Amino acid sequence: TIGKIFDLTVQKYPQKEAIYDARKNLRMTYSEWNEEVNKLANALLNEGVKKGDLVSTYLFNTEELATTFFACAKIGAVFNPINFRLMAEEVAYILTDAKPKVVIFEKALESAITTIEARFPETAFWFIDEGTPDYAANYHEKTQAAPNTSIRADVKETDVYAIMYTSGTTGRPKGVMHLHRDMAEQSLIVINATKLNPHDVGLVTAPMFHCAELHCAYLPRVHVGAKNVILHQFQPQRVLELVESEKITKLFAAPTMWNMLLQEELENYKIDSLQLGLYGAAPMAPALVRACQEKLGIGLVQAYGMTEMGPAIAFLSEEDQLVKAGAAGQACLNHEIRVVRPREDGPSDPDEIMPAGENGEIIVQGPCMMTGYYNREEATETALYKGWYHSGDIGYLDEDGYLWVKDRVDDMIISGGENIYPREVEDVLYEHKGVLDVAIIGQPDERWGEMVTAFVVKKDPAVTEAELEAICKNSDKLANYKRPRKYIFVDSLPRNASGKIQKFVLRKQLEDVFSEGQP
Ligand code: AMP
Ligand code: MG
Repeated sequence: TIGKIFDLTVQKYPQKEAIYDARKNLRMTYSEWNEEVNKLANALLNEGVKKGDLVSTYLFNTEELATTFFACAKIGAVFNPINFRLMAEEVAYILTDAKPKVVIFEKALESAITTIEARFPETAFWFIDEGTPDYAANYHEKTQAAPNTSIRADVKETDVYAIMYTSGTTGRPKGVMHLHRDMAEQSLIVINATKLNPHDVGLVTAPMFHCAELHCAYLPRVHVGAKNVILHQFQPQRVLELVESEKITKLFAAPTMWNMLLQEELENYKIDSLQLGLYGAAPMAPALVRACQEKLGIGLVQAYGMTEMGPAIAFLSEEDQLVKAGAAGQACLNHEIRVVRPREDGPSDPDEIMPAGENGEIIVQGPCMMTGYYNREEATETALYKGWYHSGDIGYLDEDGYLWVKDRVDDMIISGGENIYPREVEDVLYEHKGVLDVAIIGQPDERWGEMVTAFVVKKDPAVTEAELEAICKNSDKLANYKRPRKYIFVDSLPRNASGKIQKFVLRKQLEDVFSEGQP
């Protein structure tokens, strides 16, 4: 179980520094942290939390979130981290679905909670006041009053350990249920793929409520007894300062975050402790991967996956970055990935396997697969049809068994009857040095069905449409019909917390313009 993993590390490395919360400037060894975890676990028991009850967090990256994760694990409560970017009604939706016993939130996010609190009389709301020097608030009153005695709860590896609501680039969020055993397995797979060891110092800066940071970085470090430095929210200069002062060796960041790091004056920081960067959770253009390798001088590992699978299902290793640039890599240990013929009328059949090199839907089986969506039997059945998780991602497996992810089924553009994967076009535009960010969208069009449209954020204000057109025209990777017919320059692109572009927002924008009859 996750609780046992924590206890074993505490036993092995009691005096080793476990955690540094940069905002609070608080350091704890594993044995000090264990006391905090036990106090919170006892405080939750005092509140009446029983095995199987949910405890939600609505927090930035904080020591308290890190502590809640293991306190829940120890008492068999179900950990439910909520995206701190969600607004009041979105949080209310999750609380209505999840019915947690306790919600732990911080002062900075208070306004959303005060709006909805009264609707949940069965739920206790504990808050953390990061604005006061001792963080005095009812969370700390309750934990400080509780004993630090160790917990002996009857938690099994097959118990549900967490419910994580998917970021959802479409539709209402669904609660993904994971078991203790599955996450222990995911952690081992990541330890192996990122060569983690007790001497590593990791920086937690991507959101901890998302399983990419939580399971592919934070948990595996605790598992091996490494140290976690916690930064409450991504801020490129703070990341670089902390890499220097805490001698960070490993860092997971979403592609947008890597992009922002590269915009900084890197020569002002001493970052040579950094050995390995992990990227994933959203596609990263090969040009950006190359820039990271050159400017930061570090090895890079890509993780591809989804909340439903824990999340990683494939890794592209440091060694493979050169020979298979742009691929998502090979299936994780103990995982099987297939590419199958997509169906219009329902989930694709796991046995209709596409030949090597041909695009289809990516489906997967592995030990970290979710047990299902909370309260959603039908959606679970469709997603896990015939025992395979159906990702809704399009891609292919090459002759060597490497996976190439093309796009989301829903983002594919059909123009003049031809299928166009936006990523192919985006990757070409990223090769232009003056481009910071790109999204390719299909705009409804009477003649072509859809027209390839580029939303572009400039890095260099001098970039012109003609230059972008030239780079597409001269690229040997882009057929004529895939070239954008229209460029729209914007200041930024809408993204969700894990860095995925919210294409539905852009599509809506295009439809609005379309229906108003403007060009
Ligand atoms: P989530 O459920 O929020 O973890 O989102 C999962 C989705 O993110 C996947 O189905 C992919 O569409 C996308 N994704 C995650 N990792 C990668 C990656 N390395 N490359 C491309 N897309 C990715
Ligand atoms: Mg998803």
